[in-house]
Formats: sequence, C-alpha cells, structure tokens
Amino acid sequence: PIVLGIESSCDETGAGIVRDGQLLAHVVASSMDEHARFGGVVPEIAARAHLQSFNPVVRQALDQAGLRLGQLDAVAVTTGPGLSGALQVGLAGAKSLAYAAGVPLYGVHHLAGHVAADTLEHGPLPAPCVVLIVSGGHTSLLLVRDLVREPIAHLGDTLDDAAGECFDKAARILGLPYPGGPAIDRAARDGDPRAVEFPRPLTRAGDDPYAFSFSGLKTAVARWAEKHRLQGADLPVADGAAALQEAVADVLSRKALAACAAYGVRTLVVVGGVAANSRVRALTERRCAAAGVELRVPPMTLCTDNGAMIAAVGDLLVRAGAEPAPLDVSIDPSAPLEYASLTPLPVAA
Ligand code: ATP
Ligand code: MG
Ligand code: FE
Repeated sequence: PIVLGIESSCDETGAGIVRDGQLLAHVVASSMDEHARFGGVVPEIAARAHLQSFNPVVRQALDQAGLRLGQLDAVAVTTGPGLSGALQVGLAGAKSLAYAAGVPLYGVHHLAGHVAADTLEHGPLPAPCVVLIVSGGHTSLLLVRDLVREPIAHLGDTLDDAAGECFDKAARILGLPYPGGPAIDRAARDGDPRAVEFPRPLTRAGDDPYAFSFSGLKTAVARWAEKHRLQGADLPVADGAAALQEAVADVLSRKALAACAAYGVRTLVVVGGVAANSRVRALTERRCAAAGVELRVPPMTLCTDNGAMIAAVGDLLVRAGAEPAPLDVSIDPSAPLEYASLTPLPVAA
C-alpha cells in the first residue's frame, strides 16, 4: 500500500510517504528556531506553526513522491503522546486528507513511529529485538516481537528525566545553545571525557538493570559548574560536555546490552533523537561488536521526529489487516506505549 504519514506531536511538522516498506517522501518543517529564545518548546507557538506548515509539507511530500492525493491507500497520523494542541492540528489535518481521498485513517503511537523509522533504512525488524528509545521525552528499553501484531514489552523506563532532556538541561547550565543535544555533541569534540567523573545512575548491584535515571546527572553537572564559578575559574565547557556525554552513553549502552544478554536477543535497535549522538553511537557500536550483537541505528534524519516513521507504522498496520481508526478518533497526549496503533488491534489473522 501507499501510505501518507503525518507527525505533529512536538515542534516538527512531518509528512512522509511509504510504499510497502519503501520510503518515497520525507519532508519536515521545524519551529525549533521560534522556541530557542524561550529555552524550550512553547506549546501555543508549536500548534500555530503546525497550522502554517501542514499543507505546504504535505504538498511537498506528494510532489517528492510524484503522487496525487487520490493515489494514496491510507493516511496514518500520530495521535499521541505529545503536546495536546500540536497533536490536534495534525489529527484534524490528517482526518480531512483521509476524508478527501476516501481512504482509511490509522492512529499511530509516536514512539512506535520512532521504532519503525529503522525499517525504512534496514528493512523489517528481526523478531525478537531489543529497542532502546532515547528521545527528548522518553528513555525506554523495549522487547519487540512484532511491532504491530503484538503488545510491546517494557523492560524499563526512566524514573525521572529522559536522556534528551538531560542533554537539553545540562546544555543550559553549560551556557550552550538550544537544542542542547546537538550543541553538547559539538562541544564534546574538543573535550576530554575523563576530565570529570560524572555518576552512572542505577548501575550498582541491586539496582533495576533496565531502569534509567538522569535527573541526578543534571544536578551533578550543575554542582560541577557551580564549583568552578565559586573559584572564579572559567568553565571548561568542552570537558564537561564530553564527560556528560560519556556518562550517558555508558549507561545507555551498558543497560541495552545487558537486556540483549538476558533475553538472548541478537539485534539491538537504537532510535529517537539521542540516537543521533556520536558518542552514544560509537560506544554502543563497540560494545555490540564485542558481544556479537547486531546494532541497527537509523540515519540521523530519521532519528528525530518525522512523518516517514509514522507512514512506516501505517504501512505495517495496513499490511497486517488492522482496523482503521473510527471517525471520532481523538488525541491521547499521554498515551502509554502498549500497542503501535492507538485503535484497538484485532488483526485479521
Ligand atoms: P519524544 O519522541 O520523546 O516525544 P521528542 O520528539 O522531542 O521527544 P526527538 O525529536 O526524538 O524527541 O529528539 C529530540 C531530542 O534529541 C532532544 O532532546 C535533543 O537534544 C536530542 N538530540 C538531538 N541530537 C542529539 C545529539 N547529537 N546528541 C544528543 N542529543 C541529541
Ligand atoms: Mg523536536
Ligand atoms: Fe519524538
């Protein structure tokens, strides 16, 4: 099937088109710059930006694929989790498109989209696989058997901040620009990761092996910065960034590989915005190679929010024979990740 995917859960308006697992179009407009002076995403600004970008982004995606609206077989849209106003703009637009094209609409869980992003680059996911989702709002270890046919097993989640949130907050402390993740990645290139020893939360014997905690790490960076300030010394920003990145990469890769070992899984998939981090990639790669585990990480443009990943889930749902969303489907800003689709999934066998 040919499926158009719409994403609008945060500050990216994304439209992507997928045909039978093949990526045909991938267009993203971001309101990131409009939020920069506030140091974080402002929901009202994000919603208005989606309203402005929706039609141009969809138009561009159809042009890229060389398709007309009438050639689509289905529309898939993120129904949650995310910012309420932002999700509403995307869902309203997607409903209209599906109605105009006379095709079914599928509601997709944003995080299932992040997982499916990898299939656009590396093909179908092997079953089972361990998936590490590391984004601005989530840090979770999942055991995935069949993304759209079976419930998704959570091995562990963060108890407080997400890894991306930790990068974003620490960047502010270090005086780096928004968004913090990419800024820390860049600054860390000139730093020494061993200059400071930041804690490795929840890695002691007896700790939950798959749970994460990153708020203490942010506090450790703040204390380290404060110490320099009190001494009237310049903050070695590059060293701080490198050491923080090392601590996050160490914890993430260690726990992901522990899950692979415990469940006898040979494929690890790392997705979400933080999967774009160069140190997270490099360290995870090294540890996977040592453990004989295949590592799959989507290319950077598919790691951060986009519509192609939502189209990828929609394509899988259509092929699995899943029920489309009812006409009155609504958003769910805090949807837990249990199923890839937000509509119940009696899949025709
Ligand atoms: P969620 O998917 O949980 O709803 P989100 O959509 O905001 O959250 P993504 O778009 O997947 O998250 O990722 C954005 C996050 O990724 C931000 O926290 C950003 O700082 C982080 N990030 C992006 N690039 C990098 C990088 N190179 N290094 C570290 N973090 C990065
Ligand atoms: Mg974003
Ligand atoms: Fe996301």
